[in-house]
Amino acid sequence: MGEKSKTLFQRAVRSIPGGVNSPVRAGKAVGVDPLFISRAEGCFLWDADGNKYIDYVCSWGPMILGHGHPEVVSSLKERLSDGTSYGAPTELEVEMAEAIIDMVPSVEMVRMVNSGTEAAMSAIRLSRGFTGRDKIIKFEGCYHGHADSLLVSAGSGVATLGIPGSPGVPEDLARHTISLPFNNLDVVIEAFEKYGHGIASVIVEPIPGNMGVIIPNVEFLKGLREVTRDNGSLLIFDEVISGFRVSPGGAQELYGISPDLTCLGKIIGGGLPVGAYGGRREIMERMAPQGDIYQAGTLSGNPLAMAAGLATLAILKKGDVYRKLEEKGRALFSGLGNAARSAGLNVVVNHIGSMGSIFFTANPVEDFASAKESDVEMFKRYYRTMLEKGIYLAPSPFEASFVSIAHNEEIIQKSIYCAEESLRSI
Ligand SMILES: *Cc1c(COP(=O)(O)O)cnc(C)c1O
Repeated sequence: MGEKSKTLFQRAVRSIPGGVNSPVRAGKAVGVDPLFISRAEGCFLWDADGNKYIDYVCSWGPMILGHGHPEVVSSLKERLSDGTSYGAPTELEVEMAEAIIDMVPSVEMVRMVNSGTEAAMSAIRLSRGFTGRDKIIKFEGCYHGHADSLLVSAGSGVATLGIPGSPGVPEDLARHTISLPFNNLDVVIEAFEKYGHGIASVIVEPIPGNMGVIIPNVEFLKGLREVTRDNGSLLIFDEVISGFRVSPGGAQELYGISPDLTCLGKIIGGGLPVGAYGGRREIMERMAPQGDIYQAGTLSGNPLAMAAGLATLAILKKGDVYRKLEEKGRALFSGLGNAARSAGLNVVVNHIGSMGSIFFTANPVEDFASAKESDVEMFKRYYRTMLEKGIYLAPSPFEASFVSIAHNEEIIQKSIYCAEESLRSI
C-alpha cells in the first residue's frame, strides 16, 4: 500500500470508527488496510498515491455505466446551477417514478428514499402496516441494509466480519424476524404452517449478492410467491443489486415473478445516494400522506440524485446494453473459472449476467451455509495478489464482483491473465 493511503488511514482511524464510513470497506476480512481513492474514470480507479486499478467493485454495484459516464456527468452539471435541494416536488421526481414504473414490471407506484437501507426498512413497515401483522421472514446471508428488523443473520459486512446480529437490536424486535436458509422452500412452508397468519411479509434478494452471488432456484422464488399469496402476506423483492443489473426490470422480469413490493437502490442513483420502494398501487396508497403509514425524507428525490439516476436509466433502456453486459460477464467469470481450474484449484463461479463471485470450494454454493464452507484463507491470498496486480475486488469472500459497460474485452482479458498468475501463485 502506498504511503498516502497509509497516512490517510492512520488519520482516519482517529476520527472515524475503524477509519471507514461503511464496515465492508475496511479490508479487515482480507488483512489489508483500505486504499484511499482519489479519482475514477470508466473502469479505472486511482488511489491517493496515484496507483491505477481495474475496478470490479463499481461502488458495490451502482456504477453499471462505469465511472464518470459523459451523459451522467453532463446531466449533473446542467442541474447543479439550478440548486441542489428544495424540499419541494420537482418534475424530475415524476420522471423518475414514471421511468421506474415503466421498467420494473410489478411497480405501479413508487416512493424515493436516500438509501437501500431506507427502502427495505420502509417496505417492511408498509408490509406490517398493510397486513396488520408483525412477523417477517428473511433468508440467511441476504442483506437488506442495517435496519433493526433486518440485521438478523445478515450478509455483506455482517457476514464478512462474522457478526451474528448486532448489539442494539432489541430482542423484542428481533424475535419477529424468522431467518431461514435460501433456496429451501420446504422450511418456508413449515414456517407458514406454524405462524401463517402472523407473517406480514417475506423479504428476499431474488438473486443474492451479499453472501457472494447465489443462483436462485426459480421454483423456490415461485414457491415464495405462492405461499405468501395463499397466506395473505406480502412478497418483497429486494432488488437493490439485481434491479437494472440483470435486466432492465431486474430479477422479477428475468424470472417472470411479480412481487408485491420491490426495493431498489444503487444503480437508480447513478452513483449518488438513492433508494426507492414501490409496488402494487393498493399497497403503496397506504403510505402517508395518501394513507396512514408514515415515512419521510428531507433529501428524498433530491434533484441531483434524480438527474444522475435518470441519465443512467435512459442509457440502460437503449439498445443492447444488457446483451453486452451479459457477454462481458460471461467472458470474465468463465475466464476466472478456467484460470482457477488450470491452476489445479477447486472453485465454484456463480454468475448471472454482469454480477458474479468466485468461491474456493469443490461443492455447489447454493446458500449461506455452503458459501461459508469455502476457503476464506485462499480468498485472502487471491485478493491480495490481485490487488498487487492492479485488480480491485471487493475485500470479502462474501461479496459480488460487478462488470460495467466500460470494461472492454482487452481489460477483461488482462484481468483474466492477472487471475491466472495470481491463482497459480496461491
Ligand atoms: C446494498 C444493499 C442494501 C442497502 O443499501 P444501502 O444503500 O447500502 O443502504 C439493501 N439491500 C441489498 C440487496 C443491497 O445489496
